[in-house]
Amino acid sequence: MDHFELLRELSGQFGVSGFEGEVREWISNQIRSWTDDLEVDALGNLMARINPGRDFVLMLDAHMDEIGIMVSHVEESGFLRFAPIGGWDPRVFPAQQVEVRSREGKRYRGVMGASPPHIQTPEEQKQALKVEDLFIDVGAKSREEVAGWGIGTGSPGTLHYPFQRIGMDRAMGKALDDRVGCAVLMRCLDYFSKDRPDFTLVANFAVGEEVGLRGAKTAAYQIKPDVALVIEGTVGADTPGIPAHKCPARLGKGPALSVADQSIIVNPSFVAFLEHSAESLKIPWQHKIPLAGSTDAGAIHLSRKGVLTGIVSVPCRYIHSPSSVVDLKDLDHTISLVKEVVRGARKIKAHRP
Ligand SMILES: [Zn+2]
Repeated sequence: MDHFELLRELSGQFGVSGFEGEVREWISNQIRSWTDDLEVDALGNLMARINPGRDFVLMLDAHMDEIGIMVSHVEESGFLRFAPIGGWDPRVFPAQQVEVRSREGKRYRGVMGASPPHIQTPEEQKQALKVEDLFIDVGAKSREEVAGWGIGTGSPGTLHYPFQRIGMDRAMGKALDDRVGCAVLMRCLDYFSKDRPDFTLVANFAVGEEVGLRGAKTAAYQIKPDVALVIEGTVGADTPGIPAHKCPARLGKGPALSVADQSIIVNPSFVAFLEHSAESLKIPWQHKIPLAGSTDAGAIHLSRKGVLTGIVSVPCRYIHSPSSVVDLKDLDHTISLVKEVVRGARKIKAHRP
């Protein structure tokens, strides 16, 4: 599988926070032969180990979960009311295509409906639609019909379009935050299953990041890492009308190295290590502008006695929308950088400025 195919598979898997079973199953099947030990904890984190039981533990983390919706109420008429799961801008919702998952795991397609402009007052047209004004139309004619499909209060859903290539080497689809990070972890497991490090390498495919860094918290507690590296899809905002000082990261400019976000201030020696690693590979890299967003690093670095934790991200435009865009070269360069970090992991030391 090339990077595009791998991302297409990852993007297409269902994995709304709290409902990561499908994406976890797919990743497990892909990585099983590259790992010595696969474990799923009570929250649903998937932990893949190479060389378990050594004196030094490096944890790589990417989250499997994606933002989505949850059915909150089914109208008599068969329309679904819903609550957002994760950090949505509700203005994205109207007229988007949706997939709602039934109790049996079957997906039902639908559309986010709202009242048409023709019947709105001029006052209403000026206001952004709120979630409570919206509903999902899955083509059902009654509450009973919806119930018969196994859909009801608590059913999860995603905004979903087919994964596509745009331009020469860019890919567009849902959930690239953080399936792009999952892709990096999978490439590393494949590589280090053959070229083994002299320590324990644990790749954690985390659950529940989008609802508050939940999975990474329990995973770090169990893994007991000496050093951790989080791989994320981050805000690429190099688009018209956004000034440079407000643009967290740019597409095509290589992996984005975090110095700080809202959940962590990265130890400067770890940032310097990442910079030197990227320089030694002669790949493009960029700093991510602080302090946009939170990452699993926020939970991991506060585990036990504290964990030295860094963050590398693949820039992702239109993040938290069903049509996010990444540059496949950025993905490739991020894989190279993370491999280099794994090779040198024992050399990463905390420096307290
Ligand atoms: Zn993310």
